[in-house]
Amino acid sequence: MIYLGEQKEALDKYYSVISCWVNSKHLGRLKESNENGYKCDDLNCSVCTRGLKKLDSHDRFFDFIIPRLDEVIKAKPDEMLQLELKLRAEWSNNGDHNLKEFKDGCSIVLKENGYDRWFTDVKGLNYDLAEWLDQHTCTFCNRQYIFTARKNAGEKGITCQFDHWFDKGSRPLFALSFYNLIPSCSLCNSSIKSSTHFNTDEYLHPYIDKDISSKFKFSSIPNTATKYGITFLNESTMDAKTKRTLEGLGTKLVYSKHSEKELQDLIDLRLKYSDNYLKNLLENTFKSELNMTKEEKYRLIFGIELEEKKYHKRIFSKFKRDIISELLSIK
Ligand SMILES: [Zn+2]
Ligand SMILES: [Zn+2]
Repeated sequence: MIYLGEQKEALDKYYSVISCWVNSKHLGRLKESNENGYKCDDLNCSVCTRGLKKLDSHDRFFDFIIPRLDEVIKAKPDEMLQLELKLRAEWSNNGDHNLKEFKDGCSIVLKENGYDRWFTDVKGLNYDLAEWLDQHTCTFCNRQYIFTARKNAGEKGITCQFDHWFDKGSRPLFALSFYNLIPSCSLCNSSIKSSTHFNTDEYLHPYIDKDISSKFKFSSIPNTATKYGITFLNESTMDAKTKRTLEGLGTKLVYSKHSEKELQDLIDLRLKYSDNYLKNLLENTFKSELNMTKEEKYRLIFGIELEEKKYHKRIFSKFKRDIISELLSIK
């Protein structure tokens, strides 16, 4: 898993779009025939310039959630469960409000209309958010590219999937919350992580844990005289949170088949030939007068980024970096 950074600019852009959407769904668009409608000050607003259809129900939910939208959309991952409890209590203390109405509001407004229909619709806020976040490989595996590319007129082409850290089925209140949307590949989102319910006490989070990448190291383990498998260094002494996270994300599983490919290639470079060809490649491939940095050498020779904050830009950066450093340390 890779740390996603602060992403403050992306959050601000995202929040203003969400705010216009929620207000427009509640009040409809401001026009002559709808004097009580909503329209923000931005003449180019991607939401307010479109004729969004008002949602003709859930008025009490809208009245409740709009003044608290800031809290819901910007909630930090480790504050979300507390916030949910707080909002449920505030709702319940409101005269005749019952919790089913609150739950329905979250499901129908935020999840079904918000995330399922609007977030991924034709114009696609998912494309905008992916571009604002600017992550090039899957946050969970760093094994697949998750580029966003649009067709000519800015229409849909390809983009990442967004995994809900707190799943949107059981926690629809956070279906549109910024820090709950993790850019990922389809395998990690739908096949692997969906089976595990994550929480921030027991699992690392890509918006909280800055040092995720240094909490574990990939390592190779000989299965036979010539075949190797992929494991983690010091797995038995690894802290419980990291171990649980790697298991929940199926990291070892998704990397397992790479033992015959990328891992074997690196091992061959180190062990198959009489010289330490791996070291040779790094030290002798480029003439010294080229003054190449270590980062440039790793990018050109192995196709990876060496700096942790750039891991997301190239697939296999974390994996190959760990394996190469292990192989270089063999005497
Ligand atoms: Zn607007
Ligand atoms: Zn992935």
